[in-house]
Amino acid sequence: MRFKDIPGLHEIKERLIMTVRENRISHAQLFYGEEGSAALAMALAYAQYITCRNRQENDSCGTCSSCIKSDELIHPDILFSYPVVKSGASSKDVRSVSQIDKWRELVLRNPYFGPGQWYEQLGVEKKQGMIYTEESDEIIRKISLKSFESEYKVLIQWLPEKMHINAANKLLKSIEEPPDKTVFLFVSIDPDQILPTIRSRCQALKIPKIDDESLKNFLRKNFSLTEDEMERMVRWAGGNMQELLRLSGTKEDENEFLALFIYWMRISYALNMPELATWIDEVAAMGREKQKAFLKYVLKILRENLMLHLMPAQPSIIRMTKMEYDFSKKFSAFIHPGNIDALYTLLSKAYDHISGNAYGKLVFMDVSLQINKLLKK
Ligand SMILES: [Zn+2]
Repeated sequence: MRFKDIPGLHEIKERLIMTVRENRISHAQLFYGEEGSAALAMALAYAQYITCRNRQENDSCGTCSSCIKSDELIHPDILFSYPVVKSGASSKDVRSVSQIDKWRELVLRNPYFGPGQWYEQLGVEKKQGMIYTEESDEIIRKISLKSFESEYKVLIQWLPEKMHINAANKLLKSIEEPPDKTVFLFVSIDPDQILPTIRSRCQALKIPKIDDESLKNFLRKNFSLTEDEMERMVRWAGGNMQELLRLSGTKEDENEFLALFIYWMRISYALNMPELATWIDEVAAMGREKQKAFLKYVLKILRENLMLHLMPAQPSIIRMTKMEYDFSKKFSAFIHPGNIDALYTLLSKAYDHISGNAYGKLVFMDVSLQINKLLKK
């Protein structure tokens, strides 16, 4: 990742670049910012700049062998550490490296993710991760080795606030007296939770929100959107890159699901039986997993429609894409406190039935008839 890949934040970039050019890279640094900030992205760009073999005045070159490895998160001198989840006896290895493939995949897809997305990526949404003592042993072992290719060895630790107290204490000594040419980059969303003895040894840098104009430029470069669309997405995102990416990049499935959903609501409301039968055939043909994903999507859209219904003047709280929003502006009139509980229960039960191998066509027919009644409430 290069500095230029991160929208805005010119002062921060300039400051980091100067530390390298003036040869005063601090050996322990803490980048912190709210969830959705560019803190991790900035650490990646900084590490790449530090290790680049052909540094430019304002950025890494992007083409040297070191940059290519940094870009793919496989540089042997850039180490990653992050919380993992101990899930039963099957996962004895609690070092971060045991989850490196999942880490790389997520970081490459979106370096602005938060803990929720990481745990989802690990397949353990309901658990909290931790950085265990074994991980500190691993870090200490790795930084004691000579660097492979670069002058510096860089450790990027995401969420040091998740370090177990023993892990933190173990690492403390290395932070106090690090091996030569070793840089610790800690990336935090909750710096107050970091062990004070560690925090106080780091040079802290707050990564602020990205300004609206830079976000708009980012959208202009990467997506084909109208000025109005960009304007609204940027306003909704409120400087949060994670949110901006979510709003701008709708997954293929979601477009299909939205079209299915709009049509379903229309024919259920009108109780158009022939079209309903055709629609149900189409949904039945999708297969069970996709039907479940569709029902989950419907639950999400209904929840957002309720929010829109209750707080139409506060679009910033609504988590919808532009297409969803355009439809929901009118549809949200039908979703209100008088029917949301029943709709939720109805669709959650349908989800359970489909999961439990019920006959899809019957489930969807029954749900459609109930929706007809509930929308007219
Ligand atoms: Zn380079």
